[in-house]
Amino acid sequence: MPRWGLVIDLDRCTGCQACVVACKHENNVPLSTSAVAAAGRLMTWMQLVPVEMPGRAAPTALPLMCQHCDRPPCADVCPTGATYLNPEGIVAQIYPRCIGCRYCTNACPYGVKLFNWTAPEWPESMAGMQNPDVSLRPTGVVEKCTFCHHRLMQAREQVAAEGRELAAEDYVPACVQTCPAEAMSFGDLDDPHSEVASLASSPRAFRWMEELGTKPKVVYLREGE
Ligand code: SF4
Repeated sequence: MPRWGLVIDLDRCTGCQACVVACKHENNVPLSTSAVAAAGRLMTWMQLVPVEMPGRAAPTALPLMCQHCDRPPCADVCPTGATYLNPEGIVAQIYPRCIGCRYCTNACPYGVKLFNWTAPEWPESMAGMQNPDVSLRPTGVVEKCTFCHHRLMQAREQVAAEGRELAAEDYVPACVQTCPAEAMSFGDLDDPHSEVASLASSPRAFRWMEELGTKPKVVYLREGE
């Protein structure tokens, strides 16, 4: 079984937010107004968060999404099994099982699980532009990044039809595909020959809030070293 992980090189990231837009479009994340954001109900699976980094004069823009923890506190507290660590290391979210109790949003130290306060809506000009491979989430459930799990399903069907094994380039999340600075790498952390495994063992590598023991599978590479 692979153990999917993401590496983000902060030295390459320009903070352009192309990944944020790509994620929203790929995963049918509705647009939010400034009033919604001011109420603390911004719906975005990925965002750039300014953080203070040791040795840096100015804050760093940290691309932050579900860290797909190997020890996910969100899954520990879910009373219905709506969120769980799947065998490939992806922290899954099953919307029909979610009862909206929001234990998980409180348990997640990264603040990346979002409750749907309202039904998803898009402007008239975007009618019919939603991704048919990703379900629309109803009011009252929690959602988050899935590492574009639907792309893995598509890739598996494609390689089965072609009669070959899944290769690293077959499964690429939308944020990784879109990043113009090529700051993101995705793949199997347990494959010693993979690019992500090599990058994750770099001396520049760190995991966000790793002192909490959540064992994230999103790995960042420090700037300027
Ligand atoms: Fe769960 Fe939060 Fe970890 Fe994602 S980052 S697996 S939502 S605890």
